[in-house]
Amino acid sequence: MIGGGVIGCSIAYHLARRGAGVVVIERETLGSQSTGRCAGGVRRQFSSGPNVAMQQLSVRLLAGLEAETGVDPEFRHIGYLFLLTDERDAEDFKRLIPMWHEHGLNDARWVDPAEVRELAPLVTGDDILGATFCPSDGIASPHAVTSAYAGAGRRLGVKFMEGVAATAIVRDGARIAGVKTTDGDFATPHVFDCAGAWSREIGAMAGVEVPVDPYPRDIFVTDPMGSMRQHPMTIDFATSFYFHPEGDGMLFGMGKKGETPSFSTEVDWTVLDSMAEVIERRAPRLGTIGIQTAWAGLYEVTPDHQPILGPVDDVEGFWCACGFSGHGFQQAPAVGHLLAQWYAGETPEVPLDIFAQRRFSTGIVEPERNVV
Ligand SMILES: Cc1cc2nc3c(=O)[nH]c(=O)nc-3n(C[C@H](O)[C@H](O)[C@H](O)COP(=O)(O)OP(=O)(O)OC[C@H]3O[C@@H](n4cnc5c(N)ncnc54)[C@H](O)[C@@H]3O)c2cc1C
Repeated sequence: MIGGGVIGCSIAYHLARRGAGVVVIERETLGSQSTGRCAGGVRRQFSSGPNVAMQQLSVRLLAGLEAETGVDPEFRHIGYLFLLTDERDAEDFKRLIPMWHEHGLNDARWVDPAEVRELAPLVTGDDILGATFCPSDGIASPHAVTSAYAGAGRRLGVKFMEGVAATAIVRDGARIAGVKTTDGDFATPHVFDCAGAWSREIGAMAGVEVPVDPYPRDIFVTDPMGSMRQHPMTIDFATSFYFHPEGDGMLFGMGKKGETPSFSTEVDWTVLDSMAEVIERRAPRLGTIGIQTAWAGLYEVTPDHQPILGPVDDVEGFWCACGFSGHGFQQAPAVGHLLAQWYAGETPEVPLDIFAQRRFSTGIVEPERNVV
């Protein structure tokens, strides 16, 4: 396993449960990169059916995580609210509701602007046409989930090597034969690329095209705001501005327009200026309160905003688990479970075909549209 974020830790644990011997090679410390900088959102309101199915599974696994590993994932079901201001987006989301229900997401529903204000007291704006709301979605702790899988994996014999970088992948013809690291070489017929924003580099070491690019994202957390702890995770879909309770304050962030890939994780304070107009229009109270802290992390983005999962065709033994495009924390429980099923020769209970790496050469893609 190359990469010890939430994805590598989840897969390692699920493989070890099925009796596999696993080594996790992590250049920094477990969960310290994108995982440790993420907003903790867990939702099922995706546009593509396989993502909804995968998220149903993740939520089920999170519900059982404490019983399974002894660690509470701190999943708070504050709900997820997608605010819609564009007619086409609103129609699109309305059309998705029956699909969500087919996948068992029965409490997802359309809410009108008056109810939006009741549910989300920070929200303002006469341009809101309505929203979709799923009260059982929410936020969980990336730290807790990662340490749950790491701890339980360790007890099952997984070897975690922190502060060790993979530097090369050895092939025997078209097969994986080993991994070279800064702390020695390993012979192995299988490598999982769980290197998050750096997954393209790991692919290149094996001669595999892994189209994942890094895009920095900033998060800001406000000073205490009183009784907002039950405020739903709220996403202004047209702008991708989002916010949710974090401790006694609110956490917020937004995507960037016209950005180019970069590995920079310095906080870009100018983002606050570019967000000022949206904050003023959508949640003005956030603009009147101090910022307690801020940090930046990397999204790991694919061209269709879908993850790349499973073994690749051209190099036997090279598995991808990367490219989560900003949703990897919530997908980690399901991804670990499903890839371990696949590895063990079972049929993954959620079909993973649309996530295969070959889609970038066949051109058969089903992009995810509900991205933030
Ligand atoms: C600001 C922000 C907000 C987010 N919000 C959410 C959210 O609300 N919900 C959600 O589901 N997701 C969210 N995400 C996305 C989520 O954080 C990621 O999708 C997820 O953490 C990916 O996990 P990972 O294990 O693949 O990557 P990482 O946690 O980055 O782990 C990859 C690891 O690989 C290691 N590595 C890289 N190269 C090497 C090498 N050569 N040798 C050894 N190790 C190597 C790195 O050190 C790193 O620790 C957010 C991300 C950001 C940045």
